[in-house]
Amino acid sequence: MWICPKCSTSVEPSFEICWSCGTTVDGVEDPTFVTADNASPIKDPSDNLRKSKESSVEPELPEPPLELVECYRARDSAEAKFLMDRLAEIGIMALANGTHMGNTEYMLPLFSPRIEVRAEDYARARGLVDEFELRKKARLAGVENL
Ligand SMILES: [Zn+2]
Repeated sequence: MWICPKCSTSVEPSFEICWSCGTTVDGVEDPTFVTADNASPIKDPSDNLRKSKESSVEPELPEPPLELVECYRARDSAEAKFLMDRLAEIGIMALANGTHMGNTEYMLPLFSPRIEVRAEDYARARGLVDEFELRKKARLAGVENL
């Protein structure tokens, strides 16, 4: 055990410099010495890896951003609402002009509302919309009970 000539800290004999201030037994200070408190944390490669993995994971959002595709342009709010109800019946969430159509919006005279569904639902939605359009055309053509 030796006593640091600079800061009077007791230093283990196995240390050549004072662990507290970096001074040698002879009183020579090491200009490059940094105390443990000031030293930057030892880089752990596995720690970096873990961090990069974490940052690549998307933060959990209550509702993930939806990729919406237009599946139909309705004639008016009533038609949009009707179609959206039909879509909802088969479990497809649809939006009209970017909103869920509540009863309030249903009353708004939207001009040709754009009906959008999630990309993954598009094929099923199109099936329903195609059928809807066929029926509509038939109705307009005066054909009943198609
Ligand atoms: Zn010291």
